Amino acid sequence: MVSLGASRYPSRFDPARLDEVDPAIRGNIERRLDVLGPGYLLIYNDPVAFVRGRGAHLFDADGRDYLDAYNNVPVVGHCHPHVVEAVSRQLAELNTNTRYAQAGLVDYAERLVARFPDELSRVTFACSGSEANDLALRVARHHTGGEGIIVNRWAYHGITREVASISPSLGEGSPLGANVREIDPPDPGLVPAGLTLAEHMLDEVRRAIADLRRHGFDMAALVLDLSYMSDGIFPEPTDYLQPMIDEVHAAGGVFIADEVQAGFARLGEDMWGFRRQGVVPDIVTMGKPMGNGIPLSAAVFRPEVARDFGERVRYFNTFGGSSVPIAAGAAVLDVFEAERVPERSERVGRILRDGLRELLADAPHVAEVRGAGLLAGVEIVADRETREPDRARTTRVIDALRERRILISAAGSEVSALKIRPPLAFDEADAARFLEGIEQVARLHLGLE
Ligand code: PMP
Repeated sequence: MVSLGASRYPSRFDPARLDEVDPAIRGNIERRLDVLGPGYLLIYNDPVAFVRGRGAHLFDADGRDYLDAYNNVPVVGHCHPHVVEAVSRQLAELNTNTRYAQAGLVDYAERLVARFPDELSRVTFACSGSEANDLALRVARHHTGGEGIIVNRWAYHGITREVASISPSLGEGSPLGANVREIDPPDPGLVPAGLTLAEHMLDEVRRAIADLRRHGFDMAALVLDLSYMSDGIFPEPTDYLQPMIDEVHAAGGVFIADEVQAGFARLGEDMWGFRRQGVVPDIVTMGKPMGNGIPLSAAVFRPEVARDFGERVRYFNTFGGSSVPIAAGAAVLDVFEAERVPERSERVGRILRDGLRELLADAPHVAEVRGAGLLAGVEIVADRETREPDRARTTRVIDALRERRILISAAGSEVSALKIRPPLAFDEADAARFLEGIEQVARLHLGLE
């Protein structure tokens, strides 16, 4: 079982190997270790440094082109010209906070909320996914009067003390709250014999609610990342969630959909993970891709859930919702419309996942290809019979792709699923390059003949 937070990155730089690093970046890494310390981990055994980005491509100082199949923040593509232009213009004109009437702020808030069901009509802006989740938890507690929180077993929801305490994937070094209970993600492999997945998920929630009660905690919230990214990527199936939410409501709690990963069309045509599931949450949080790299996040509420908190608690986030991040957010929505980004996520995602399934169908070390939209998880195993996770092999695959200048990472309880999560600028040519790279690597490391 993996316990240390840092070890959740399968391929990462080991400072003991400094001498082997490309001399062009060795000095920088040495100074980095001194001034930033080892907590700033560098991804990849053989670290990379970039000087430029465009679309789903990153370029190093020698002009070499890396295919980015990992970064979800630059959702419309690295340095998208429309976003660059909008942000630069706003920065040169005015950048101030939400305490002044600003047309851009209200226009964007309306545009964003219009992408939600009617029930979700109130928005608050912040700077990071962690802040949005932190606020969501405060509102949930205030509204319900309860403290109990239910999350997935390997969930990650952020870095403040509050959200770290509901993030089991941070490992043993980061304590969970006494008010937190963990449930299985919707992984068909975890369902006991004789139960459907939906029955198992409902049992999990019931058990958690009962245990919380027994320890004196009334329900505040069920918090789920509907891509189940850190739990190993389980966007399918989609038929189990409403009964879980009903159970939480009956116990007095609310449902918070953490869309920091799933939102902004990561999972295909639907803008939000909860849409695919056919449910309406009480609170939705979002961040990462929202400003294409400019810090911008939000929590969207049912007004009745947020009203009393809004009236009685002052929430002023100095940078949250200020003019420049709002300009970035609006430019991202412009590109979503102009380039039909959700449709591209659906279309190219299908090509990518179908391609992976076809290519890896006979690879003895691949148990499954999962995913939706431009998110794919490839479960790497020692052998298909036992389905024993094979983390070392997963790491070798990641490193071999990096050697071919293709960037991915891994996810899951055993960090044994390849995590393929490109910017949504990823197009057909990028998918073809990716599939070509993984075919070569699968012959070397996944037993493909
Ligand atoms: N929720 C989820 C599901 C996330 O994946 C993350 C970041 N990886 C966060 C919240 C926290 O977001 P941030 O890093 O912007 O604080």
